[in-house]
Amino acid sequence: MNSNILDTASFNIKQTIERLNIEPDIAVFLVQPREKIAITMNPVLSNGRVKSIQAFLVRHNDILGPAKGGIRMATDVTIDDVTGLSMDMSWKTALIGVPFGGGKSGICIDPLSLSSNDKEVVVRSFTRGMMRQIGPEIYVPAPDMGTSERDMGFISDCISYSHGASITDGCFVTGKPVVVGGILGRKGATGKGVVFSVVRACSKIGINIEKATVSIQGFGNVGSVAANEIIKEGAKVVAVSDINCGIFNPEGIDISELLAYSQSNGTIEGFGGCKHISSEDVLTVDCDIVIPSATGGQITEGNANSIKAKLVAEAANSPITPKADEILDKKGVFVIPDILCNAGGVFVSYLEYTQETQREQMPQGVVEERLSRRMTSKFDQVYEYAEKNDVSMRVAAMDIAVGRVVEGIKARGLMP
Ligand code: NAD
Repeated sequence: MNSNILDTASFNIKQTIERLNIEPDIAVFLVQPREKIAITMNPVLSNGRVKSIQAFLVRHNDILGPAKGGIRMATDVTIDDVTGLSMDMSWKTALIGVPFGGGKSGICIDPLSLSSNDKEVVVRSFTRGMMRQIGPEIYVPAPDMGTSERDMGFISDCISYSHGASITDGCFVTGKPVVVGGILGRKGATGKGVVFSVVRACSKIGINIEKATVSIQGFGNVGSVAANEIIKEGAKVVAVSDINCGIFNPEGIDISELLAYSQSNGTIEGFGGCKHISSEDVLTVDCDIVIPSATGGQITEGNANSIKAKLVAEAANSPITPKADEILDKKGVFVIPDILCNAGGVFVSYLEYTQETQREQMPQGVVEERLSRRMTSKFDQVYEYAEKNDVSMRVAAMDIAVGRVVEGIKARGLMP
């Protein structure tokens, strides 16, 4: 196994199985994925050449409903990463209380190396290759790192027209453009949900959000929305990074200017008025709150001791390794675990899933109100469990989530 994401996911579930004393006949359902698929796609790109690309789809668990989870597009994504991410999705959907299981998929290519047309060809090729595994009762994909709303529109189009129709029978994919059945507010849901959790955490641990300083690793869909939302709370974003570099300004970075800059340049590199630092240094700058919003395995035993923040909000999936988690815990850093912190996206995906069968647009105000209520109530549930049992937020979130999946397994029965 060569995946810090799967290592972390396996560590967390093994610990939970031990803690909850789950019997072996049930534990196998939690550890082993139900289905793992690897395909090779051979699309013809705009240079006229065939490009061989690997893609993976893992359905970890569908006890509580169809597998749900995004499509990651990155050169180095592996089937083990996808397995670990699908496992996390099983706990996330259970914790946030939506009738889904956990799944994930991955396409091994650098999205930035593709023209817009070639990316469409790759996404359609993935859809054709995985069509039998995608469906409202099987696996419902969504955007993740390297994929976007636009790509979800292509998936929906590809599937509906393969049936000779303009719409699908039920929801095959979430995170679509609003005009073709997407839900208002899905694009910002994960980042907004992250900030709801951060605000709640600040009130519990005594950080004044209006005076807080924040550092954000990753300035994509999640990181940029989180930055934009947290400044509305009065906080100051002092550091931001993307895959190319980090920027630091202790006086606060102008987020709307940075958004405009990164949209027109495709990167934050070269943004004026800031000191340029490395992407990793963004995690250890002087600030109150760190929000890792990029990829997995970023906070390790190598840099955990250098973290100065009092609060780390896992907007990314699996950004903290188990050893780093232990170090942060000993240092008294409050960590909001990924399965809680970034669950706003899958919650609003669930609203999109239900909206699709009714074919009626849910007003954005309703979506945001429901998101805010769900994130806050779930945060409080996890916080109360953590306080009552004197455990970390991660342990509390895992206990509640896995406990719910176990309840589902028992309710269905183990036979045949
Ligand atoms: P994205 O592709 O829109 O943005 C990713 C950002 O991270 C980009 O700015 C990229 O340059 C940067 N990045 C990538 N690798 C990096 C590295 N090694 N160091 C620093 N920066 C790096 O992706 P996203 O949708 O914003 O997802 C970000 C994270 O949030 C992922 O871990 C994803 O699994 C998680 N997440 C996303 C959603 C969602 O709704 N999109 C939901 C839940 C969790």
